[in-house]
Amino acid sequence: MRKDAKLNCPYYLDNAATTKMSEKCAQVMQNYACEAFYNPSAGYGLAISVAKEMATAKKSLLNKLGAAKGDIIFTGGATESNNLAILGSLRNGNWEYVFSAGEHPSVYNVALHLKQLGFIVHIIPLQVNGQVDYEALEKVLNEKTRLISVMHVSNETGAINDLVKINNLRNKYCPKALFHSDGVQAFCKLLYNLDSIGVDLYSISAHKFHGPKGVGALYVKNKQALKNIIYGGGQEGGLRSGTENMPGIMAMVAACNMAKVKENYEHVKAVRKSFLDVFINEKGVSFIETDSPFIVSVSFTGVNGETLMRVLENKVIVSTGSACSAKYAGNRILQEIGLSVERIKSSIRVSFDTEMSEDEAAQAGGIILHKYQELREKVK
Ligand code: PMP
Repeated sequence: MRKDAKLNCPYYLDNAATTKMSEKCAQVMQNYACEAFYNPSAGYGLAISVAKEMATAKKSLLNKLGAAKGDIIFTGGATESNNLAILGSLRNGNWEYVFSAGEHPSVYNVALHLKQLGFIVHIIPLQVNGQVDYEALEKVLNEKTRLISVMHVSNETGAINDLVKINNLRNKYCPKALFHSDGVQAFCKLLYNLDSIGVDLYSISAHKFHGPKGVGALYVKNKQALKNIIYGGGQEGGLRSGTENMPGIMAMVAACNMAKVKENYEHVKAVRKSFLDVFINEKGVSFIETDSPFIVSVSFTGVNGETLMRVLENKVIVSTGSACSAKYAGNRILQEIGLSVERIKSSIRVSFDTEMSEDEAAQAGGIILHKYQELREKVK
């Protein structure tokens, strides 16, 4: 978000938590709420034309995902997409379910729940670079594996998991297993196509790419492999009953169609560099080297990350980690990759977006550096 002189907005560097919805999306929402408001399941012409638009919207999403086949199930956001992917894959019998330890709570907590229910659940540790430990993953895969769920990009560190490698492992050890990936921090940010990755299930969330909150989707390669987790009128091929959120869906697709992925990626890479360059000569500042330019976890030796976040608040907005876990003490992911308690406590998460210029990123970095130095002097 550009610093708005009139409103005196702070620099916004918490885009992994959510992004600002574009005006265009707001107009699309308005149209499908107040003009083309018909229920797509209804039988008259106006509703049928809305249903057709929804079908076209699915094609647009499949196209952007690089999936020639498969379906899109619209959901109420990625938390629901992840729950549907996992719980919808459960089968009776001695099946095993495999998750990475780096998953967002909307996957991780489902895994813990399954464990409590008595399912065989494997949680695969992370490497120091934030990626899943592929060797440990390889060791647990076998013909009883029913589901592998490993996120595409970590919302905490920006680590990118090698999904092609995981798909190859799946094909080698458990070709019948389903492969799910939480693509929330990758979609409309990185260039890839699902067909060459080979996943069966892929979750996305509109509010992470300038669409509205409370709407998302699950890509499903083969609908027969998944079961519904809620019961109702049978919308979305029976996989997600409930009247479709047309304003949200159409605005999400508008946001996705507007995203210039390659251009944005290059821009954000330059923005991130410009931000990090500010700290080059400051020995107390270190960051986790990961591959997504959109997210970086930075630590400030000797200073509490939470305190830094609070004192910056009116000038630069950052977070101490995922907003979904911000209420809980500690940071499970940073712990998992082996950071010391001191370092975890001194960490903040900075997440970039296309709307910030390189100059603005350097200015925001400068403000953070200045506040850090001030705080460090105080605690001395
Ligand atoms: N997965 C990841 C990686 C996320 O970053 C988030 C949002 N913090 C979610 C899932 C949940 O998405 P939603 O807010 O749409 O439920």
